[in-house]
Amino acid sequence: MSPHIQPRDDLRALEGYHSPQLDVDVRLNTNESPFAPPREFVEAWTAAIAAHDYHRYPSRSADELRTAIGAQFDQPATRVFAANGSNEVLQTILLTYGGAGRSALVFEPTYALHAHIARLTATTVIEGERTDTFVIDPATAAARIRSERPAISFVCSPNNPTGTVEPRSTVLAMLDAVREVEGLLVVDEAYGDFADWSATELVGDDVPLVVVRTYSKVWSLAGLRLGYCIGADWAIAELDKVVLPYHLSIEKQLAGVLALEHGAEMRARVAALVEERGRLTTALDELGGVTAFPSGANFILFRVQGDGATVWKAMVARGVLVRDFSRWPRVEDCLRVTIGTRSENDAMLAALAEALTEVGIA
Ligand code: PMP
Repeated sequence: MSPHIQPRDDLRALEGYHSPQLDVDVRLNTNESPFAPPREFVEAWTAAIAAHDYHRYPSRSADELRTAIGAQFDQPATRVFAANGSNEVLQTILLTYGGAGRSALVFEPTYALHAHIARLTATTVIEGERTDTFVIDPATAAARIRSERPAISFVCSPNNPTGTVEPRSTVLAMLDAVREVEGLLVVDEAYGDFADWSATELVGDDVPLVVVRTYSKVWSLAGLRLGYCIGADWAIAELDKVVLPYHLSIEKQLAGVLALEHGAEMRARVAALVEERGRLTTALDELGGVTAFPSGANFILFRVQGDGATVWKAMVARGVLVRDFSRWPRVEDCLRVTIGTRSENDAMLAALAEALTEVGIA
């Protein structure tokens, strides 16, 4: 092979982000909504697209979208930033406030993309630890922030992959420390609608806080790629300088506004999924051979009392795909299941029960 240019030294050792997909009947591995978006939404959206002029660039500031999102949280458009999925929001935050010579603090086990995007942007990653029950200990976290002085401190709540929701008191304790070191607290609430409180209520101009959210889960629009954050005006203004111009297409901006007109239906869906989460947690506990962790998200992490990877394979053989975390540090032998429709959940429980029996665990 002829010689060719290599990527930056610090990128060469990085592995890409992988979330394996398999073509099976029941896919409960990527925390999507099991429901398609409402038909009335799709009709209104496609009609709006058809009425648009496509030889012109989209609105660069996406004002209508920001105003509509802000209204959901009683916040002005100046405190809202939107991008192509919350991953792009996270990337923009790291491009703006991270970078060479700066650090980002994460509490493991947590969403892999926080550390991954930090590394892509040459930001040093500092790994904090969660407790045995996967919560963040507020005193330890605040002390770590004061000693390490990270530019960005991440809290994922509800946490992926554990489902853990941090209490308001933990976020407030971390905010105090972040304020002292003149850093930024980023609360990733991709699953925030499934939890019982939201850090969006703490957002204000004198608060070094940005709360990241997405249309991918609750709004049934993972395929659209639209996410946003709510934060202090000064932080939002800086993100706007960094993100590429015209990054949000016309159809995306239209969809983001029109989807929000279906809030009542979406809240009913969230309630149904939360009820299913309760049913599934009980069923997993009753199954024997697994331990489910409490979740405030649209998924549940459970530990297999045996080899998790073997159980995962046996479930796949029965047409059910869940996410295999069994080889991840700190969540050894754990599998994560997205809450699906009632029948998908029943199929998952049946496949898991059979898999545990086959493997000789239950
Ligand atoms: N944050 C968390 C915690 C997630 O789990 C995900 C998706 N799995 C994202 C952000 C990114 O979501 P999206 O880019 O689809 O908005």
